[in-house]
Amino acid sequence: METSPSKIPVGISSCLLGHSVRYDGDHTKNDNILQHLQTHFDFKPFCPEVESGMSIPRPPIQLRHTPQGIRCVRVENPSIDVTDQLQSSAEQQSWLEEICGFILKKNSPSCGIDCVKVYRNNDFERTGSGIFAQYLKKRYPTLPLEEEDRLCDPQLRENFIQRVTVLHRWKQLCRSEITVNQLQVPFATQIDRHEP
Ligand code: SF4
Repeated sequence: METSPSKIPVGISSCLLGHSVRYDGDHTKNDNILQHLQTHFDFKPFCPEVESGMSIPRPPIQLRHTPQGIRCVRVENPSIDVTDQLQSSAEQQSWLEEICGFILKKNSPSCGIDCVKVYRNNDFERTGSGIFAQYLKKRYPTLPLEEEDRLCDPQLRENFIQRVTVLHRWKQLCRSEITVNQLQVPFATQIDRHEP
């Protein structure tokens, strides 16, 4: 994926940008994110389900308790387990090394960070994390992650921008020779450098 030199690269669930990649062929475009964050970030859209080989439209999937633990399976046929398919596709995304944050679609069995429904028979509890989100948390523990609805809150949004900016600055420093002066650049100055 190409990176804009003036903006910080941030991954985002494709459906939030208006890409029609959902299981039902629709999208969940979030205008609030576009309005407030596209001036800061160079969005890198990614749909873990489509990228793993699933079609559009496709049978819906869900997290479910199984004898093998919590797995991601087809809703209408839980014997079809897509957990490994999603996991191995995520492991092949080398571009994730370059990004400084990820905005994820809530409630998704692939993208949801927390409180995703986990089914046991016909009941569910909101204790799960989507397969792709789990991978991001484990593989990139310092990567700022946020669900799209929380970014409607101005304070949470500002906090996310700051965390992304700090990681971006750190990655830049790691690519150059780090000096004490560079480390002492006030944080506010670092943010200002990314104002459009
Ligand atoms: S897998 Fe993620 S990006 Fe793809 S449609 Fe579902 S929520 Fe959107």
